[in-house]
Amino acid sequence: MAIKLAIVGVGKIVRDQHLPAIGANADYELIATASRHGTVDGVPAYTSIEAMLDAVPEIEAVSLCMPPQYRYDAAKVALEKGKHVFLEKPPGATISEVQDLAATAASKGLTLFASWHSRYAPAVEAAREFLASTTLHSMQINWKEDVRHWHPNQEWIWAAGGLGVFDPGINALSIMTHILPRAAFLTGAELTFPENRDAPIAAMLAFRDHAGVTINADFDWRQTGKQSWDILAETADGQMVLSEGGGELSIAGQHRAGGQNEEYPELYRRFAGLVKAGKSDVDLAPLTHVADAFMLGKRKFTEAFYD
Ligand code: NAP
Repeated sequence: MAIKLAIVGVGKIVRDQHLPAIGANADYELIATASRHGTVDGVPAYTSIEAMLDAVPEIEAVSLCMPPQYRYDAAKVALEKGKHVFLEKPPGATISEVQDLAATAASKGLTLFASWHSRYAPAVEAAREFLASTTLHSMQINWKEDVRHWHPNQEWIWAAGGLGVFDPGINALSIMTHILPRAAFLTGAELTFPENRDAPIAAMLAFRDHAGVTINADFDWRQTGKQSWDILAETADGQMVLSEGGGELSIAGQHRAGGQNEEYPELYRRFAGLVKAGKSDVDLAPLTHVADAFMLGKRKFTEAFYD
């Protein structure tokens, strides 16, 4: 039987990724949406999650796709009504609120899925396997894109809790935390804030792991022209280049993995598997590194940013 699903927060990522992935997966039937303005053709629409859950009690699961600052209350309402919950990334605005949701889901035997779409990029698993088989000397992450192109007029992203450049940067951290052979911890950071915004436009991060391997990350939202979503690793078996946001892998100059982007179809397969198995998946490692950067990072201010 298909999972009766509802979407909350119908915006860019829902149209670009969620709707095609759900539509192509027989494990789901999309039966309602809740959004103040957005709707999906042919699907009953409500303007709040409360009104939707009252009107359509047969909903079994919800995908929460609004900005992270507004996700906790919706997730709590859904869990209290006995619904499984899929959280877009980042799973919340704070670590402790997501822990609260995880405890609620566990107490009710419901699935909570903190999704990290970049982990499902086609070459990420091969990179993880390679790093587990070699000796890592160092890693450099370059995640640089043009905010005006990717996030036009998204005011929430510049507000406190919107994460600024960490909104894409956390995708890099979700890959990093998945492929590293050992956990790493932050040793220093520098965050650059536009003088008129509460979230950073650039961030430089330095990490070290238990074995003393250093990892540096450079996130920047001011890159025009070619965009960079690359992870470079120096290893005993040559340089590993994981490029295109985890989409392509080469090692010592040889192409090793890559292919079609199946990130959101994979996320929905994973969520259906978790629901069927009665399990949750809430990995807070990427969000923890972002919180550490806000805690440890030096702050610089730069010119005001306007869309
Ligand atoms: P978006 O289009 O700006 O927002 C999604 C929807 O959330 C909006 O259309 C809006 O719908 C609702 N919303 C906005 N502000 C709200 C508020 N104050 N309270 C309640 N609902 C609000 O953003 P998006 O790009 O889809 O991103 C949403 C989430 O997906 C973010 O966490 C982002 O990191 C993640 N994500 C985005 C992308 C991407 O490429 N855009 C990729 C991967 C993941 P209504 O006005 O109809 O309520």
